[in-house]
Amino acid sequence: MSDGRAQNSERRVQISQRRVQIAENLAAVREDIAAAARKADRDPSEVSLIAVTKTYPASDVRILAELGVLDVGENRDQEAAPKARETTGLGLRWHFIGQLQTNKAASVAEYSSFVHSVDRLRLVGALSRGAVRYDKELTCLVQVDLGNAEPMDDNAARGGVVPAQVPELADAIAAAPGLRLGGLMAVAPLDAEPGPAFERLSVLAMRLRSTHPSATMISAGMSGDLGEAVAAGATHVRIGSAILGIRR
Ligand SMILES: *Cc1c(COP(=O)(O)O)cnc(C)c1O
Repeated sequence: MSDGRAQNSERRVQISQRRVQIAENLAAVREDIAAAARKADRDPSEVSLIAVTKTYPASDVRILAELGVLDVGENRDQEAAPKARETTGLGLRWHFIGQLQTNKAASVAEYSSFVHSVDRLRLVGALSRGAVRYDKELTCLVQVDLGNAEPMDDNAARGGVVPAQVPELADAIAAAPGLRLGGLMAVAPLDAEPGPAFERLSVLAMRLRSTHPSATMISAGMSGDLGEAVAAGATHVRIGSAILGIRR
């Protein structure tokens, strides 16, 4: 066998081993989501899974698609844009979930279906221009800071606006050409219990729906706190390491 063919068959073995590993992890995560939903008297089908693929290669994204996971999340444009290009044609929906610089908004708008991390008005304008340029509808979520600390405290800041700023940003998204208001997103604070924080998010989401009834998404919950998020009403959980492994 030539070196090239030996390398190819070795690569195939690696991919199939990786596929088994991801399939097992995925089954366990799906079971955790279903168990958390049942415990909260919710139908498991109300909770959508977004697989967060940051730091993992496009080959893993392809495996996820084969396993039926079409919603994938990334937090850096530099990494997400080439990965999205490499996996076109698989019917994926890309969710951008990281802090976003205004000058990257058009690039993100090109391949993304959802942006979970909208946290300022300037970004709304930039995403709107990008969506119009690519003639698409981009669903945007307002990211809320659930930290207890003052918003100026850098240690506590994990991104997002304070609750009082949600209505203004939500209205701006709903009024912007090319954008659709999806709902709210948050990351649990580092220094507090996730459950009560997610409950606060749920109250904010309910308030938002009173003025924007179609903004039903609540994006909350990661590998370490998906149970608390589902109990508090999350409609979308963003799971990375529990499916793909601990990032190095
Ligand atoms: C990385 C990331 C996740 C996934 O985190 P895991 O702990 O690996 O599940 C979810 N949300 C955001 C915003 C992230 O950056």
